[in-house]
Amino acid sequence: MMRGSVEAQERQREHHKKYYQEHKNDIEFRKARKQYYEKNKVRLRKIRKLYARKIRKQAEEVLGGLCFICGAKRPLCGHKKDGSSHASNIAPLILKNPDEFVLLCPSCHRGIHFCMKILNMTWDAFLKEYKSREVCHDSGKR
Ligand SMILES: [Zn+2]
Ligand SMILES: [Zn+2]
Repeated sequence: MMRGSVEAQERQREHHKKYYQEHKNDIEFRKARKQYYEKNKVRLRKIRKLYARKIRKQAEEVLGGLCFICGAKRPLCGHKKDGSSHASNIAPLILKNPDEFVLLCPSCHRGIHFCMKILNMTWDAFLKEYKSREVCHDSGKR
């Protein structure tokens, strides 16, 4: 039994070695990239943050800088018109395909998800419904 496990270990080591040989460039590249990141973490994070903010601002400008539904100025998030995406880092996608996105304030954002997911409304139906109502809105109080 001891012998068996030694052999198994040996086999595993061989397997790892083979894997390393086959993916050497990839593995070394990832290692180097990680080391570089660890070394420059603070600076890189700062750059990334500034860049994200800049891109976000650009994306908001491209989409008009106002909530698509109610015209609130902020806070806004970019949103895919089909309701599928509201990740905070979609600014690069917005800049690539601005036609597919709108800006929404938090309360219209809640509205759209309620209508599309709970009431199964389409984007167009949502717009018609929402814009035709006098919606009591958060942004009015601010
Ligand atoms: Zn709104
Ligand atoms: Zn959303």
